[in-house]
Amino acid sequence: KANRKFHPDDTVITLSNGTKIGDGSLTLMAGPCSVESAEQVTEIAKAVKASGANVLRGGAFKPRTSPYSFQGLKAEGLELLLKAKEETGLPIVTEIMSESDIDLFKDVDIIQVGARNMQNFTLLKKLGKLDKPILLKRGLCATIEEWLMSAEYIMAEGNEKVILCERGIRTYEKYTRNTLDLSAIPIVKSLSHLPVVVDPSHATGMNWLVEPLAMAAVACGADGLIIEVHNDPPHALCDGAQSLTPEEFDSVVKKVNRIKSAL
Ligand code: PEP
Ligand code: MN
Repeated sequence: KANRKFHPDDTVITLSNGTKIGDGSLTLMAGPCSVESAEQVTEIAKAVKASGANVLRGGAFKPRTSPYSFQGLKAEGLELLLKAKEETGLPIVTEIMSESDIDLFKDVDIIQVGARNMQNFTLLKKLGKLDKPILLKRGLCATIEEWLMSAEYIMAEGNEKVILCERGIRTYEKYTRNTLDLSAIPIVKSLSHLPVVVDPSHATGMNWLVEPLAMAAVACGADGLIIEVHNDPPHALCDGAQSLTPEEFDSVVKKVNRIKSAL
């Protein structure tokens, strides 16, 4: 179902605010790694919207490497995201970690499957029963074929609204958090009709690398970007080092839009 050979036309996904993903425009998803408070998420949402973001991101259920790190505000975090959506009109994308939480996500616009759950086939099958867009991140060590097969798991159950997200893969290079596989963008777009968005934040782990890799991703044909933005990065409860300030995000938006219009 994900194969372009049998479905030549690009999949276009339409969200509540009219944003279309995969129609040739550039979708900008931005927001904090984790929802921390009502003030934090609303302030960031307003700022990224003013810069041109069309979707608000924010984690409520956080897949942290250490069990002693901040695990997210969970259901309360989802409530705060929905409040920010109400205030700004921005649709929201947020990560699900367990199929037992599915009911909590009924008002979420796009459900994110994180890199660590890309091959959680039980979860993928459950999400395949929904009529809701799913942002499927590439696994830490997943090949393109494995990633597309995970999309197939969701689509085989009936939900064909899948957005693929390249977020960097693990290589021997330790300077960056992951290695952004730019070649995956044109490859996946030739193999599949599904939209591809790129996450330069988790791909690099460093705020100053987000801008050049965001520009490169757009030049390579990405349908959108998902970028971490925080109003106080040094004090962020998660991923502060890779988070942009709202001002830095504004500058990235201007640059990627210039690249996009030059294509
Ligand atoms: C995230 O988006 O905050 C996240 C945890 O991403 P990934 O699954 O790509 O590591
Ligand atoms: Mn993060």
